[in-house]
Amino acid sequence: MLIPYFPQIYPGETLYSLISRYHIHTGSLSWSNSYNELFGYKEVKNLSMDFPTKIDEISKRIPSRWGITEVYLIRNCTLFPLYRPFMNDEFAEEIKDLMCSRKEGLILNKMGLRLQRNSDIYYCVECAKEDFFKYGESYISRLHQVQGVMVCPKHGTYLNKIQRITEKQELRYITPYDLENPVIG
Ligand SMILES: [Zn+2]
Repeated sequence: MLIPYFPQIYPGETLYSLISRYHIHTGSLSWSNSYNELFGYKEVKNLSMDFPTKIDEISKRIPSRWGITEVYLIRNCTLFPLYRPFMNDEFAEEIKDLMCSRKEGLILNKMGLRLQRNSDIYYCVECAKEDFFKYGESYISRLHQVQGVMVCPKHGTYLNKIQRITEKQELRYITPYDLENPVIG
């Protein structure tokens, strides 16, 4: 079933962030409901910030006239374009195919990312404040999630983090509370 609403995509916004805002904006009663609307099933866990999977499920539920295709989401809302220069064509196709499957663990293994990075959410307080001023809400930028990035490329300030419990269905998100009580990443 097509969804009647999808959030406006902000520059460099992660798919994780879009799904969180979808849940918030639609006033959904439960995460199971939101996942069911977006993915077609209720049990979604370990949603990757870097290389999310099941992108095909989301894109086929978005009305085609909005132009938000699998390719569009992979290019604009994942870390794929940042790693693409280091992949040969065959490997890049393989990763893209996996992002349109349910094999999340396989991507992390293939990319060698499993042991290098935790799953916490990284954000810049200054960016988040600007976003609140500009858009009335904040969002999670993919540039801040890149391994090894400790400071915001725009502001030069240390990134803060929000701890995530990936086994839970609920997605943690940047709130005004986090801006007042930042934890250095
Ligand atoms: Zn910043």
